[in-house]
Amino acid sequence: TGALDLTGVSKSYGDTPAVRALDLSVAQGEILALIGPSGCGKSTLLRLVAGLERPDQGTLRVGGEVVAGTASAVPNSPNSSVGHAPVTRAQWVPPEKRRVGLVFQEHALFPHLSVGDNIRFGLDGVRRTEQDARVREVLDLVHLPHVADRYPHELSGGEQQRIALARALAPRPAVVLMDEPFSSLDESLRARVRTDTVDILRATGTTAVLVTHDQTEALTVGDRIGVMRDGVIEQLGTPVQVFERP
Ligand code: ADP
Ligand code: ADP
Repeated sequence: TGALDLTGVSKSYGDTPAVRALDLSVAQGEILALIGPSGCGKSTLLRLVAGLERPDQGTLRVGGEVVAGTASAVPNSPNSSVGHAPVTRAQWVPPEKRRVGLVFQEHALFPHLSVGDNIRFGLDGVRRTEQDARVREVLDLVHLPHVADRYPHELSGGEQQRIALARALAPRPAVVLMDEPFSSLDESLRARVRTDTVDILRATGTTAVLVTHDQTEALTVGDRIGVMRDGVIEQLGTPVQVFERP
């Protein structure tokens, strides 16, 4: 098993299939870029992993742990399965208990909380001294060691983006999910923040799945690229494998 494993995962909204019997495994430390046209199911895939949607079918594992789906349960007594169908039970780990970090537009920084408190938000249950150490650690990591007491509106767009990444990394997730993370940045800033982001993910050995509609971006950041279409991953491989295909 990898950092993230999906087996036969399907999700429809009413009659609209969004993700169809999808299998995917992302290795520890790997950065996977997902591209594909609007409506092909990229966001739904991330939302399933995050626990913001429930799959209709299939199994999702994060860091080796089943977070959604069905898993065979071992019968209680040696005789209990005799003459019965195999016992299965639905498994569900809620979003806040999953080892998943999110960098989504709709999870922008809380404007009324300082940078430090934004980062502490995801560290519920961690001792205060440890929280403070983590805040320092992730702010150093994103090269913004002095901004803990500032508020989001006092930071530039690029700085806010780096804080969003710092917040996602603070709980040490098994996988970070990024949905069009650079789309709100202007052209001149985008390449720079993109490079910084990849450097930070590499430095921490963080596994990430990044959704983009931009081929250049996918090429720049992805160890592998997944091309989605109509709810399935049509092609999956290194940038060379995917883009040199006829
Ligand atoms: P992408 O991120 O690639 O643009 P989405 O995952 O957002 O694709 O959408 C996949 C399909 O599911 C599309 O047909 C979309 O219209 C549909 N869809 C997405 N979210 C919802 C929703 N909340 N309710 C109904 N249909 C949805
Ligand atoms: P629900 O559990 O009801 O689906 P969420 O917790 O996903 O709600 O999100 C509620 C609101 O709080 C959303 O608008 C989201 O953008 C925001 N939000 C959730 N988590 C965070 C976070 N860690 N930092 C900042 N904003 C967040």
